[in-house]
Amino acid sequence: MKFYSTRDSEQKKFDSALVIKQGLADDGGLFIPESIPSLSEKDIKELAKMTYPERAAKILSMYLTDYTYDELLSDCKEAYCETSFPGGAAPLKNVNDNIYSLELWHGPTAAFKDMALQIMPRLLSRALVKTGEDKTALILVATSGDTGKAALEGYKDIDRIKIMVFYPESGVSKVQKLQMATQTGNNVNVCAIKGNFDDAQTGVKKIFSDSEAHKVFAENSYILSSANSINWGRLAPQIVYYVSAYCDLLNSGDIKFGETVNVCVPTGNFGNIFAAYLAKLMGLPIAKFICASNANNVLTDFLRTGTYDRNRKFHLTMSPSMDILISSNLERLLCFTAGTDETRAYMKSLSENGSYTVSDATKKAIAENFVGYFADEVDTAKTLKKYYDTYGYLADTHTSVALDCAEQYIKETGDTKKMIVASTASPYKFAADVYKSITGNAATSDTDALDELSALTNTEITYPLRNLTERKVNFTTVIESEDMLEAVYKFM
Ligand SMILES: *Cc1c(COP(=O)(O)O)cnc(C)c1O
Repeated sequence: MKFYSTRDSEQKKFDSALVIKQGLADDGGLFIPESIPSLSEKDIKELAKMTYPERAAKILSMYLTDYTYDELLSDCKEAYCETSFPGGAAPLKNVNDNIYSLELWHGPTAAFKDMALQIMPRLLSRALVKTGEDKTALILVATSGDTGKAALEGYKDIDRIKIMVFYPESGVSKVQKLQMATQTGNNVNVCAIKGNFDDAQTGVKKIFSDSEAHKVFAENSYILSSANSINWGRLAPQIVYYVSAYCDLLNSGDIKFGETVNVCVPTGNFGNIFAAYLAKLMGLPIAKFICASNANNVLTDFLRTGTYDRNRKFHLTMSPSMDILISSNLERLLCFTAGTDETRAYMKSLSENGSYTVSDATKKAIAENFVGYFADEVDTAKTLKKYYDTYGYLADTHTSVALDCAEQYIKETGDTKKMIVASTASPYKFAADVYKSITGNAATSDTDALDELSALTNTEITYPLRNLTERKVNFTTVIESEDMLEAVYKFM
């Protein structure tokens, strides 16, 4: 299996190890597989009998063909072990007649980013060897909160890798900030920037495409690499849990083989939902993808009108990991649907005007699979409370956005197929907003909210979030977004 850039008409091909090492293509595009491996009925039935690490190794081996199955299996077993995921890697919980919650947050940072970032450093480590690389990999991450911490946990103390994380100073929750500021490890750095997530992401992308900077890095024996969801090594492991969820539904007898299900994903950078789409292209019986957004509903508008327009007000919401106006992974969907030339033109327009409009054919093709809904702050809180009161299901704010959108979709279409809703964070990660949504009252403080939510709901604080305030703060730097490159040089 080879990969090429979403912006390259020639479709020059690269191996997966190189693609994982490099992150972003030289032309600024994203790597995509040249073909989609298929899962037969027999494959899916075999997967259903396997453990999660075995399912993961099998699916990854279809894309990462320059890794051996044994390498992948060993990495998957370590990544998705019982110690890291005491609640199971990706358990599927039945919520009501229609809805199943695919809980992706039982890992070391209590958010779904762990699903990819526990395995990705292992893949990168092997990629350095496979590509004969003798330099140290310098990972740069822009985060809206969850990626940063998950990447720090995944990469800390790994040989020949250093990691630097940038987050928007006022765009992440107090708990997220504490999680990152108290990070340990001898190869990590954390830096807040003045601005929003897009400023951070744009800053990182700029460094990646700065050829002068690359020379400086090389002279110091570093190569740049990314852990953002633009990296194929992040995306591939996310395909696994959709296949796994389908297997679990088969095993529990909730569906018969071949029965189609819908998937609803709380979406920011379009990585998670795109991975679900790849599962469908591989043959998993999925009908529709419900793309759920918060008040930053640029994707809802795009899916409804065909125009992507980032020139709009940016909202800080209680689902901050979805506060995004540039959804990078959408580029992969555009390329799959419209090819490299159209994609390159759209991305040029996006960078020059902040908007683009896709052709009617492209819009129609996307609409066959994707529908967009959004939930504002009031509806997110209402739905969170309703699911707790009515179904006894405690959701975080991001999951609640998705639950609200799933309900809107069901109500509007009458489509009652089983719906897998991706649950992307522990309710404790956003405890203050969860507590307020349920009770109508503010918690004493963002950090006290953890104990208060625990007492209110009689549930245990998710393991990575216990004793957060007692840990030592190691990082306090705040910089302007223009100074990001300089900060990286300093760290190097
Ligand atoms: C990152 C994140 C999302 C958005 O996922 P994308 O792959 O960027 O669409 C949603 N919810 C939570 C809790 C997240 O951390």
